[in-house]
Amino acid sequence: MQIVLIGPPGAGKGTQSVQLAEYLHVPHLSTGEMLRDVCRRKTGVGTRACVAMQRGQLVPDALVKEILFERLKEDDCRAGCILDGFPRTVPQAASFDEWLEERKRPLSMVIELRVSREELLDRLSSRGREDDDREVVLARLDQFDELTHPLLDYYNSRGVLQVVDGLGTAEEVFARICSLVDEKK
Ligand code: AMP
Repeated sequence: MQIVLIGPPGAGKGTQSVQLAEYLHVPHLSTGEMLRDVCRRKTGVGTRACVAMQRGQLVPDALVKEILFERLKEDDCRAGCILDGFPRTVPQAASFDEWLEERKRPLSMVIELRVSREELLDRLSSRGREDDDREVVLARLDQFDELTHPLLDYYNSRGVLQVVDGLGTAEEVFARICSLVDEKK
């Protein structure tokens, strides 16, 4: 199964997608993680990405697509994967659809993890990751509303969107996700 998880920063998308990947025995692909890795290695291409990431901005599409599409070609992704952090914009989703169509790999489901803005601000201010100071947190939330939120309409109109309430413990949220996925299996 090929599943995309979408949720604002702090919604628990990372935790849930790791668990879902284990549950379905498919790789967990996080573009944020891949980009942080590129940054750590400080290659020429990473420098631009790092500056954007530190400001809470999106990294240019071309770079993200290049990294992700290369990874998707690997054998372990044949049976499916869980995508965490990609696509993040409508143009990214459109390129991804094209990429999947060319390879006859259908998108099984898109899961939206829904959490209110107040709850997110509470969670994010106590998380303390390097790029999590308040300004950056707000920039990332605004960028989600502006660029990523329209993706939900995009996938809804294609009939693949499922909404999951992201409030509660990680276990409670995971149980909601599993029941959706089990129905589809
Ligand atoms: P994440 O770990 O998903 O929260 O991503 C961390 C950061 O990586 C984001 O704030 C962006 O700067 C960058 N990033 C991750 N995925 C994408 C993407 N699909 N498009 C553009 N930038 C991305």
